[in-house]
Formats: sequence, structure tokens, C-alpha cells
Amino acid sequence: MTMQVTVLGSTGSIGTNTLDVVARHPDLYRVFALSAHSRVDLMLAQCLQFQPRYAVMTSAAAASALREGLRAAGSRVDVLEGEAALEMVASHSDVHAVMAAIVGAAGLRPAMAAAKAGKRLMLANKEALVVGGKLFMDAVADGGATLLPIDSEHSAIFQCLPEDPAVWPQRVDHIILTASGGPFRTREPSSLRDVTPQQAGNHPNFAMGRKISIDSATMMNKALEVIEARWLFNLQPEQIQVVIHPQQIVHSMVQFRDASVLAQLGTPDMRVPIACGLAWPERVASGAAPLDFAKLSALTFEEADARRFPGLHLSWQALRAAEGTTTVLNAANEVAVAAFLDGRMRFDQIYQINAQALDGVLPEAPGSIDALLALDAEVRCYAEARIAELAV
Ligand code: NAD
Ligand code: MG
Repeated sequence: MTMQVTVLGSTGSIGTNTLDVVARHPDLYRVFALSAHSRVDLMLAQCLQFQPRYAVMTSAAAASALREGLRAAGSRVDVLEGEAALEMVASHSDVHAVMAAIVGAAGLRPAMAAAKAGKRLMLANKEALVVGGKLFMDAVADGGATLLPIDSEHSAIFQCLPEDPAVWPQRVDHIILTASGGPFRTREPSSLRDVTPQQAGNHPNFAMGRKISIDSATMMNKALEVIEARWLFNLQPEQIQVVIHPQQIVHSMVQFRDASVLAQLGTPDMRVPIACGLAWPERVASGAAPLDFAKLSALTFEEADARRFPGLHLSWQALRAAEGTTTVLNAANEVAVAAFLDGRMRFDQIYQINAQALDGVLPEAPGSIDALLALDAEVRCYAEARIAELAV
């Protein structure tokens, strides 16, 4: 049977890689819907190539420009706009699988809709899980969804773990997330004060979206991944470790009770975890180059330097604090990264804003997605106010 796939965030780095894998297997996958924020040119090309039933643009102006382009090209793709349309294409009864590849908390509601509707949910949008936490995992369980991690580290761990989650607690001692160290791994920490968005966005091994590239430079990406792993694999904060591995060949590891360690390896290419998520438990060609062990000169590992990457430790701090604190950390970080990219504050101030938000906003057990998103909005205002103070 052909699997009908919705790709949320199809114009992004994960979205385009997903369509690359889908295009390799027209017999297995068909695109049901695509979504993007505002990039009309690429969305138009994707619509003409994949002929989805729906294309959703979050911006109304982009939606009308897309409609016009499609009409001129003689295409009958139905163009929708707004957040409710995202939830509709994520939960539609004709859809089997949803790739959640929107960046940030903006992707939470559509990902939740797919979870509640019991879809195969391929989760790249780590912020959705960091914000949603237990409520997100409850929606997956209640909806009977199959949650497949797309973040390469979590896909690696998922592939190393036994298939039955019921046996994880008794068998797993801890997991080890690998981190590339980003573009500043060997820079003197005091010299990071004045780095530009362009320097910070320059990831050593591959091209990604703007926000995750800055998160890789601050190590906040790994902090979000620690929180993501806590929920995906039902672990205690102290069962999650991080090690720097600059070559990005070992994508992460699981250490079992007997001290045996399993790792998943591959070239650093997001099409591998994407193909794994699409086909699981089967395997399909991803287009990624195979590893050539004869040419691998070295696999090296080093400790994550807390002086260079202070943000990393905010994850364990947030996980040990009151429920909702990881939502606080994520919202502050989204605002801080945007302010840095806009040239409104320095690189090292991203950490400062995140740490201030954790101290300054104390959540009161948010019990619903609406409450979490209200908290998210409150923290955004708080962080913007702190950023405004920096400027004076
Ligand atoms: P990107 O910036 O390249 O793409 C983001 C996509 O989301 C685009 O299609 C954009 O149109 C859409 N979008 C942005 N803001 C939106 C909004 N407010 N509402 C609706 N749609 C919106 O980002 P990316 O690098 O592809 O990352 C996507 C997600 O995957 C992120 O959560 C990221 O952390 C995660 N991820 C990415 C990589 C990677 O290699 N790029 C690896 C692991 C995890
Ligand atoms: Mg990752």
C-alpha cells in the first residue's frame, strides 16, 4: 500500500531532505500535503513536482501568491492558510504519516494533532516535544500514534534500543548523546563574545536551518536534545550524558546494565534518520553515501567543556525543576536566537537571557497545551523585556 505523507515545513532543510527520500520511492510514498511559512517559489516547485492534495501557507499573502502561481501553471493543488489548516492536514483520515519539520514551538499544535489522530509521527521538530513534554507523550499514547524520532541522535538511540519499550528501564543504564561541538569547539571561550550570526551559523559538517545552526554553536541544540531524550525514552535526567564527537559518525549510544554499549553509525546525512522513520521497521534506500571504514582516519571523543558551553547544563537544571520549566527554556531561547540573528544582541547574551528566564519565570504546573502555550507567550514577553534592557 502506498503511504500518504504530510510534510509540515516542507521548504526547510528537513522538509527538502524528506522530499528527496520520498521521490526515490514513488511506489511506497505519496505526498498528501505540504506546508511552509512564506517561501512561495520553492513551495510552488514542490507542488508541481509532488502534486499533493493540499498546500498550506501560514501567511495569507504567501497563500494568495502561491494560488496565483499554481493557477498560471495549470495545477489544481488546493491552497489553504493558517494554523487550523496545519492541524487538518496533520490529522486527515487519508493521511498515514506526518513529518513534523516546522521549527520551534509553532509546530506544537499540528504535531499534537497528528499524535491524537494516531498517525505515524516522524518528529524532527524537537521544540514541540520540549514544550509539550508529558502532555505530548500522553497524546501519542492516547491517540495510538507511532512516534519515530528524526533527530539523528534520537534515531540512533531508538535503533539501538530493544523494540519493546517495556524492557528499557530494566536493561538501559544510560544513554550518551554525541555532539559535534559546532563551529566554536576549539575557539577560546572569551573570544566568542563578538562572533557574528554568519560565523555562528557556519556548521562544520552540514547545512541546516538558521535557528538550529545557532543552537549548535551555543550547544543549546544539545540541551534541547537532552530534554527530548528524557521524554522519548522515559529516562531520568542523570541517565543522559553528552560527549563531543567532531566527526559526527557515531550518532549516539546506549549503555546497558552490563556496561555493553551499542552505537549507531553512518555518514552525517539527515536522509538516513528520515528514511528510517519513513520505513520503520523496514529499511529503504536513503540516497546517503555509505561509510567507508578504510578511509575513516579517526573517531575522537572529548568532554563537553562547561566553560565554553554553559547553555548545555540548563537542560538538566530545567528537567529537575517544576513542570513547565523546559517550556520556559525553549521560549527564552527562541527569542534570544531571533534577537541575535537580527543583530539586537551579542552571541554570549543568548546564554544570559536563557539563564535569566529560568530564574525569573516560575511556571505553575501547566496542565494543558493551551496553558503551555500561554506560558510560552509569557516567557517571550519576559525575554524581550530583558533583551530591551541590554540595549540601554
Ligand atoms: P528550517 O528553518 O530550514 O525550516 C523550517 C520550516 O518550517 C520551513 O519550511 C518553514 O517554512 C517552516 N516554518 C517556520 N516557521 C513557521 C511557523 N511559524 N509556522 C509554520 N511553519 C513555519 O529548519 P530545519 O533545519 O529544517 O529544522 C526543522 C526542525 O527540525 C527544527 O525543529 C530542528 O531543530 C529540527 N532538526 C533539524 C535538523 C537539520 O539537519 N536541519 C536536524 C535535526 C533536527
Ligand atoms: Mg540532532
